[in-house]
Formats: sequence, C-alpha cells, structure tokens
Amino acid sequence: MNRPEHVLVINAGSSSLKFTMFRMTGEEMRAKGLVERMGLSAPMLHYERFDGLKSCAPCKVANHDDAIRLVCEKLVAPDVGVLRRLSDVQAIGHRVVHGAEKFHDSTIVTEEVKGSIRACASLAPLHNPPNLGGIEACERVFPQVPNVAVFDTAFHHSMPPSSFLYAIPYEYYERYGIRKYGFHGTSHKFVAEATASFLGRPLESLRLITCHLGNGASITAVDRGKSVDTSMGMTPLNGLVMGTRCGDIDPAVVLYLVRRGMSANEIDDLLNKKSGLLGVSGIGSGDMRDNLAAAEAGNDQAKRAIWMFTHRLVSYIGAYYTILGGADAVVFTGGIGENSVPIRRRVVSKLACLGCILDEERNQAVVNGRAGLISTADSAFRAVVMPTNEELMIARETARLLSVA
Ligand code: ADP
Repeated sequence: MNRPEHVLVINAGSSSLKFTMFRMTGEEMRAKGLVERMGLSAPMLHYERFDGLKSCAPCKVANHDDAIRLVCEKLVAPDVGVLRRLSDVQAIGHRVVHGAEKFHDSTIVTEEVKGSIRACASLAPLHNPPNLGGIEACERVFPQVPNVAVFDTAFHHSMPPSSFLYAIPYEYYERYGIRKYGFHGTSHKFVAEATASFLGRPLESLRLITCHLGNGASITAVDRGKSVDTSMGMTPLNGLVMGTRCGDIDPAVVLYLVRRGMSANEIDDLLNKKSGLLGVSGIGSGDMRDNLAAAEAGNDQAKRAIWMFTHRLVSYIGAYYTILGGADAVVFTGGIGENSVPIRRRVVSKLACLGCILDEERNQAVVNGRAGLISTADSAFRAVVMPTNEELMIARETARLLSVA
C-alpha cells in the first residue's frame, strides 16, 4: 500500500471516544473531538476543526458503533466536515493500553492480534476491552480500511530484566506475567524523537530522561532511543505522585489495610482514585493548578502535596541519571510539564548538582504548547520542554506500518 494520506486516530474508552483526523502530508490535524458519556445519560459530541471552528452538542450514542458513525457524519458534513467522502479515510490507528509481552511494536490488526489484545485484558481490565471495542466498531463501519494497534507499553519492551523484574520468586513472572510493563510509551517515544530534532542531534547519540506529567505521570530513562527503565509498573499505579494515584508505596501498606478489613476494591479505589495530590492536599482536587492555587493561598496540606510530587520526581531523575551513566537532557511534557512554571522551577533547581542550571526567563516563556530550552545555554545537562502529541505518534506509526505492508 502507498503511504496513507488520510489517517483517523481513535482512542476508545468505556464511556468516551476521542478521535483525530490527520492529513499526513505536513502531518496536519484536520479535525478532532470527543464523544463523551457514551451509553450514559446526556452524551455529548465535542468537535473542533483545524481552523478553530468548534461545536459541542448533545447526541444519541449508546456504544462504540454509534460513536464511530457519528464521527463519520461530522467528518463529511458539508458545513463543518474535512473530507469529501468517507472512502477518503485510508487507515485507522488505535490506542491500545496494554500489549503485555506479546507486542513490542505497533501492529496491523488481524483476527490473531485481536485475540492477543483480548488475552491481555486481565492486565488492563478497564482499558483493553473498550480499546478492542473501538477497533471492532471501525471494522464494521469501515470494512475496507486497515486498522493498526499502537500500544502504550510497546516502547518499554526494550527494558532489560534488571529493570522490569520484581524481586519476587521468578516463577510469578513466568506463570502470571507479573513484571513491570510501563505505560505512556507513545508519549515518551514522541518527545524523545522531538527532543532529538529540537537539539539537532541523532536520537541514537542521546541519553534522555523524559517526564510525562499529566493527571497520570511517569518518567522514562531513554538510552539512545530505547527505554531502559520507567516508573510505572505492571499497572499505571506505580512511580510518581499523580493527580489521584499514590505512585510508589510500601506493598506492606496494602497488607496492613487488608488486615484492618478493607476489601481489594476499596484499596484499589483508595490508591487509584483518592490518593496522590487529591488525597494528600485534602482540597478535593488532584488538579495541579488547583493545588498550586491552594498552596499560594497558604494551604499547608497543598504545599505538602506539591513538595511530595517534586521530591519523588527529583529522586527518579537522579536515579535515571545514574542508570544512564549521565544524561544529555531532562524533558518535560504533559499538562504540568508543558505549562507549570513553578513545578519546573522547583525540579530543575534541584538539578544544579548535576550541571543543569535553570534559566528562569526561559522557564517563564516556554508555556502554552511551545517547545524550548529552560536551562542556561552552557548547561551540559539540559532541561527541555517538549509538548507531546500521542495522536500524531499513532498516526505516524499507522502510516509507517501500512507503507511497508
Ligand atoms: P491527562 O493526563 O489527563 O492527559 P494533561 O496532560 O492534560 O492530563 O495534564 C493535566 C494536568 O496538567 C492537571 O494537573 C493540570 O492542572 C495541569 N496543568 C495544565 N495546565 C497547567 C498550568 N498552566 N499550570 C499548572 N498545571 C497545569
């Protein structure tokens, strides 16, 4: 197949479906949007065209098939659409959260691939089934169009056993697949590649520490283009302090809570949804902007939550710096990494001992989707802000696979 020109990217959740339509020449976003509250009361369709035209309207959507059909209607609508006809869609790329050990790269969807995605569902019960639902809906609505699955875990497939194994009996890895898989791989890969072009250096010559700081957060040591360690684990709960997730915690805390009578579901809820910035600050929000505002207003618990967030991040950067044997740049991305001047200031200030010196003027200037250096020009270990674009990475992967197929 020739390189597809029009690629649709789908991120299907259990009650939402995000889409982005790309024209690959110039890697242009033509339209994007979100169907939310799918199968619930009052579903909504948010739509945005490349020229800034936006709409938001109630819709009737019970399942993934309805959502994909609705997206199709919008994409070809004479007034707001971006395609002349639906057959212009030449390829569809799908975000799939968990590829376990089966998938170390993106792949063209076949019956066998779908079976393997289904088989990984026990590792990501909330994500893989709806991701597969999105793929199957596209197969029904676009029977002639190839689908590509792009896995959050795939980029971390290069981790060595010393990074990915847990220090429990080896048979638990062999029998149950209990190991670190890592997530946000599409984002870490995207920003690593984008940072290499920003610095004008081949990725194969760089040692990078990429920090994806959004509501979920993870950090990766990227050695010459390959992930060699990452902070999320068998699930996305491990590692950094996040909006509502605890990150690293002594596993004995879980046992202690079990013995105090809490159920597995209650502990799951506590650690995934009630912890992190939300739980520590007690302000009812895990959003960093709300926490920064509360801290600014003098709330001590919010201050504590933010210190914990930056302390954990700095300790990981130090660990990864040594694992990589030194590093060329630390890269900030995600909503917090791309925008939060005070968080970056706190983190980069701590890196002076490694030769990374904050340039505060640059720090304040690089926000709102801009890429840039925020360390001084003579810092050997640089700090870079690089906006992520997971959808574009999925579109690139889709075009790459289908161009050689
Ligand atoms: P998700 O992981 O859901 O994709 P995002 O990458 O959009 O999330 O990041 C959301 C986080 O980014 C929130 O904690 C939000 O407060 C934070 N954020 C966005 N803009 C800013 C800003 N200007 N300053 C501080 N934090 C910000």
